[in-house]
Amino acid sequence: MTDPKYTSILPAANPPAWLGVMGGGQLGRMFAQAAQAMGYQVAVLEPADACPAGQVAQRLVNAGYSDAAGLDALAAQCAAVTTEFENVPADSLSRLAQSVFVAPNAHGVSVAQDRIAEKSFFVGCADKSGVMPAPHKVIASQEDIDAIDDKLLPGILKTVRMGYDGKGQVRVTSRADVQAAFESMGKVTCLLEKMLPLAYEVSVLTARGHDGESVVYPIAENVHRDGILFTTTVPGPNVSDESALKAQQAAQAIVAELGYVGVLCIEFFVLTDGSLVVNEMAPRPHNSGHYTMDACVTSQFAQQVRAMARLPLGDVRQHSPAVMLNILGDVWFEGDSAVEGETAREPAWDQVLALPGANLHLYGKDDPRRARKMGHLTFIAPTLAQAQQQLNAACVILGIAP
Ligand code: ATP
Ligand code: MG
Repeated sequence: MTDPKYTSILPAANPPAWLGVMGGGQLGRMFAQAAQAMGYQVAVLEPADACPAGQVAQRLVNAGYSDAAGLDALAAQCAAVTTEFENVPADSLSRLAQSVFVAPNAHGVSVAQDRIAEKSFFVGCADKSGVMPAPHKVIASQEDIDAIDDKLLPGILKTVRMGYDGKGQVRVTSRADVQAAFESMGKVTCLLEKMLPLAYEVSVLTARGHDGESVVYPIAENVHRDGILFTTTVPGPNVSDESALKAQQAAQAIVAELGYVGVLCIEFFVLTDGSLVVNEMAPRPHNSGHYTMDACVTSQFAQQVRAMARLPLGDVRQHSPAVMLNILGDVWFEGDSAVEGETAREPAWDQVLALPGANLHLYGKDDPRRARKMGHLTFIAPTLAQAQQQLNAACVILGIAP
């Protein structure tokens, strides 16, 4: 719920006010850059002293995410605070909210960071959103395993908290598998989800202002590789107008129901029979929304600035077809068998940037590691086919299998 204390009385925070962000990763960096472009000053709270956002922010508060003194310093300096990762302790957001406007607030973030709360929330607002999550069951004990309905198998066992990039997930086909997986994950509370026949995956980026106005970006189609987002294509080549509209309407119903303020991304599955299933939501700008930086009037990061600063939301119109490719640390190493740390070499950015429509974004991380997100490339072109062609050419240059 929007904190009623702030809805009507707080004026917009105009530049050059300070905006705060919890977390120092690449999303915090791109947020800071967007805020600074608009004339704001940015403070980042992050325990690591070298971090992507810390390199660009005007102030780095080097403190743990629950450190009272650090949180108080951030709150004292800033006109509004946001978060760049969903596992920020909800209590920290509540503490900040005692003295500064926080968007998204603790409620929205706590729902999104707990798969049980998230699924119950989706079920609870299905009459408004028109979409349901995958059939699922909480697995917290042996009794829960014994009581698994055959209809939930085969399935995926997911830890309730802290999952990302496919981590904390095991595919299971039998109760014995569930038991083994539950034990291998240290018997933390999990959710068993029925394995659904996916035709493709989409995400919908939304933003909602403190006045309740919301906007929804064009639907994005996502391809994952080894559990990590590989490409995002917008407009999605497989997405029918009907699915796009349904997902966009569902996303707007979901943010309204959550009383959310800020940018939120919702992932959906489109099944082989064409039906739409809601998977999960991220209470922040999202990797699948990076294309907005180069292809939309208002990027997802500029939109987050507007929402938290209580300014009018920006135009979400996409002016060019776009494809985004994540750049992982793998491309710093030659071949699959390279020993990390020994053969790292800078990729041929000059060749990549010679491709028409290329936009390179690197996050300032100096130690490339396999599967680590180092940056992304977005190709924009007059047609989607041309953008895809340039992306394929970039894959060849970077040694990424297309
Ligand atoms: P991320 O942080 O990358 O979004 P995550 O670790 O939070 O991922 P999910 O998004 O729930 O986890 O799942 C990761 C991927 O696993 C999905 O993008 C999808 O490809 C697949 N997957 C998840 N749940 C199901 C399901 N119920 N049926 C079929 N495939 C699924
Ligand atoms: Mg996901």
